[in-house]
Amino acid sequence: MTDPRRATPRVDAVLADPRLIAAVERLGPALVRAAVSRALDEVRSGRLPAHAAADMAVAALPASAAALRRVLNATGVIVHTNLGRSALSPAAVAAVSDAAGYTDVEFDLAAGVRAKRGAEVLSALRAAVPGAEAVHVVNNNAAALALTVFALASGREVVVSRGELIEIGDGFRIPELLTAAGAVLREVGTTNRTRLSDYADAIGPNTALVMRLHPSNYRVTGFTSAPSLAELATLDVPVVYDIGSGLLSPEPLLPDEPDAASALAGGAAMVTASGDKLLGGPQAGLIFGRADLVTRLARHPLARALRVDKLTLAALEATVRGPLPPTTAALRASVTVLRERAERLAATLADAGVDVEVVDSGSTVGGGGAPGVVLPSVALSLPTAYAAVLRAGELPVVGRVSAGRCLLDLRTIAPHDDPDLLNAVLSAAKQT
Ligand SMILES: *Cc1c(COP(=O)(O)O)cnc(C)c1O
Repeated sequence: MTDPRRATPRVDAVLADPRLIAAVERLGPALVRAAVSRALDEVRSGRLPAHAAADMAVAALPASAAALRRVLNATGVIVHTNLGRSALSPAAVAAVSDAAGYTDVEFDLAAGVRAKRGAEVLSALRAAVPGAEAVHVVNNNAAALALTVFALASGREVVVSRGELIEIGDGFRIPELLTAAGAVLREVGTTNRTRLSDYADAIGPNTALVMRLHPSNYRVTGFTSAPSLAELATLDVPVVYDIGSGLLSPEPLLPDEPDAASALAGGAAMVTASGDKLLGGPQAGLIFGRADLVTRLARHPLARALRVDKLTLAALEATVRGPLPPTTAALRASVTVLRERAERLAATLADAGVDVEVVDSGSTVGGGGAPGVVLPSVALSLPTAYAAVLRAGELPVVGRVSAGRCLLDLRTIAPHDDPDLLNAVLSAAKQT
């Protein structure tokens, strides 16, 4: 036997394989070279014959140049932060794709001169929230809150109820964000009860604003009270309302969830919200409100550090102007239709010998808002062993394990993804 180290081909020789030349076009040289070197390590160690190196490299190539993978969200949690919150509508995806090259994001094609960046999306948002004199868009809601402090409350007091000192998730706390941005926090009231007089007593010459924060991921119930927004609006300083979820107008299915239009009508001077929660768009921070305040934010030097790119502007405009985003469709899907889809899928799976049942389930909005609200839903119930196999599949499916079964909740699966879900379960069935 010859020494496998001597018989090992050179990287360039393997890269001459037509399949790998094509892969370099698609994935770039670095990922393809890495796959080839891993295959050649196997050859060098004698575990792989030299002629099989290209085959192994081809088999090990990633599907795309980015490691982020498409997954099916069968958890029943509509705005699932770990799964990227909202899925964009096909119209928003097309808009992102169109904007990905050179675009007229800051250019007036008719006049051939510079134009206001993102003017169209700002007017779409203004049209959707009638009380908004002005709109500004930043990177996310946390950035909207930071910019609010930079522009309106740097070194000054922000009055907040102790019932609204929120930890958003992953250890991020809004009160710490406000102080890190330069505000002096003035906490008033108690966890469960805060009165208008608590706010009024705290307001002095150094007060910049009152901030109301929507408790979007918890509920305080029982012996509670808080002044209404209209009452807060009678105070001498502007009220900034962080509504969290990003509903632009009321959503009948979520009567307790605040929305931008009602918040402005109710007396808020400014509203901040996320773009990728219940609005169903891209990650963004939306700021609506009084023109004088919003303009101070938009003109602040740090606004440039928080500005969004053309892809976000494109997706946001298509979300606001275009067809219903998947998040809204999931929220409003009727249980009858979910059950019909589940029965159809289950019938095909049962024919293929899969141990499947159709069960009632409960969906939630998730990190996006409406804490405590359970939406009736329908799920496919499979043996628990499916959970891990489905996550490891070519198109990973993330379900939830409950009472010893793996549940695939159909509310968070778009109907056009049913065939993909079916195929994923059928391939998992071969491995369980
Ligand atoms: C989610 C949330 C935030 C943070 O929004 P991001 O867009 O994730 O930065 C801030 N405030 C409230 C009330 C929220 O629910």
